[in-house]
Amino acid sequence: MLDGYKRDISYLRVSVTDRCNFRCVYCMPADGVKTIEHKEILTLEEIFQIIKAATKIGIRKVRLTGGEPLVRLGIVDLINRINNLPEIDDIAITTNGILLQEMGTDLKKAGLNRVNISLDSLNHKRFHNITRNGDLKRVMQGIEEALRLGFHPIKINTVVVRGVNSDEVVEFARWTKEVPVHVRFIELMPIGTSSPWAEDRYVPEEEIKDIITDRLGSLTEIKKMKGSGPARYYKLDNALGSIGFITAMSNHFCSKCNRLRLTATGGLRPCLFDKREVDIKTPLRSGINEDVIAKIISEAVLLKPDRHHMNYGWDDQRVMSQIGG
Ligand code: SAM
Ligand code: SF4
Repeated sequence: MLDGYKRDISYLRVSVTDRCNFRCVYCMPADGVKTIEHKEILTLEEIFQIIKAATKIGIRKVRLTGGEPLVRLGIVDLINRINNLPEIDDIAITTNGILLQEMGTDLKKAGLNRVNISLDSLNHKRFHNITRNGDLKRVMQGIEEALRLGFHPIKINTVVVRGVNSDEVVEFARWTKEVPVHVRFIELMPIGTSSPWAEDRYVPEEEIKDIITDRLGSLTEIKKMKGSGPARYYKLDNALGSIGFITAMSNHFCSKCNRLRLTATGGLRPCLFDKREVDIKTPLRSGINEDVIAKIISEAVLLKPDRHHMNYGWDDQRVMSQIGG
C-alpha cells in the first residue's frame, strides 16, 4: 500500500529476537542489554500471523533480523512457513554469520533466498575486539558455505568506523575482485551505544570511494542489483563482486524507503529513527482476526514520516538490536 508520501510499502523487516551472541561495540553495551521478559517477546506463531496479515496490505518481501536471528529457536521452521505464503516473493536474513556454516543447508531448504552477513574486519584480532567475542574464522566459513549453497547475491555489511576499521576499506574492495561478494560500506549511525560518538567516527561515501579508486582504479556504477534497496553499487574492473554504499548520514534515502519494521516485542515501527510505534502484540493477543491485524498494520504505514531526523540525535532508550537492524 502507499504511505502518506506515496511510497509503496512492500518490505517488512522483522526482529525475531533482541538477543545476540556478539556484542559489537557500536551496537550493544559490553554486558549486553537488559533482558526482556520472555512473555513480552512475540512468539514465532504471532510473527507468522503478522506477516501473513501484512501480505494483505501489499508486503511482498520479508527480512528476518534482530539481535541475531539465527539464535532464535525455530527460525528455520518460520522461514519455511513464510516461504509457503504465495504473496511473499523474497525472504532474506541479516546475520552475523557465526552460525551460518552449520545452519546454511537447512535455511536454504526452508526457502531462504538471500543472506546479508555483517563483517567489519578481515583481521582476526580486530574482529574479535569489535564484536567483543566473535570468531572471524567461523564467520568466513559461514560466508564460504553461503557461496557454496548458491545464495545470491551475498551481501556483506561493513560499518566503517574511523580509527577502528577505516584502514581496511581497500582490503575489503580487493576481496570483491576475487570473490562474488557484494560489500556494502555502511555509514555509522548515531543509534544506541554509538550515539555519543558516531558523528565524529562515521566515514562518508565520497571519502571511501576516493581511497579505493586511488589504490585500485576506477569504480563503475552498476544500475541493477537484486534487492538493491537504499545502497548504490559500483564495480572494480573485472571484479566478481561489487562495492556498495549505504549512506544514511551523508545522503539519506528516505524518499525511496519502502520498509516497515516489526520489533521483537511486537511494535510496528514505521521508521528506524522515529520513536513512534504501533503496538500490535496487545490486540493480537486479544484474539482479533486477520483483517483487523491488517488494518492495524496499514495504520502504522500511514505514520511513516517523510524523512528521518537522525542527524538531530537519538533520544530513544533502546539500542539497534532491540529494534531490529
Ligand atoms: N545480528 C545481525 C547482524 O549483525 O547482521 C542482525 C542485526 S544487526 C543490528 C543489523 C545490522 O545493523 C548489522 O549489519 C550492523 O552492523 C548494523 N548496525 C548496528 N548498529 C549500527 C549503527 N550504529 N550504525 C550503522 N549500522 C549499525
Ligand atoms: Fe549482534 Fe548484529 Fe548488534 Fe553485532 S550488530 S551486536 S551481531 S545484533
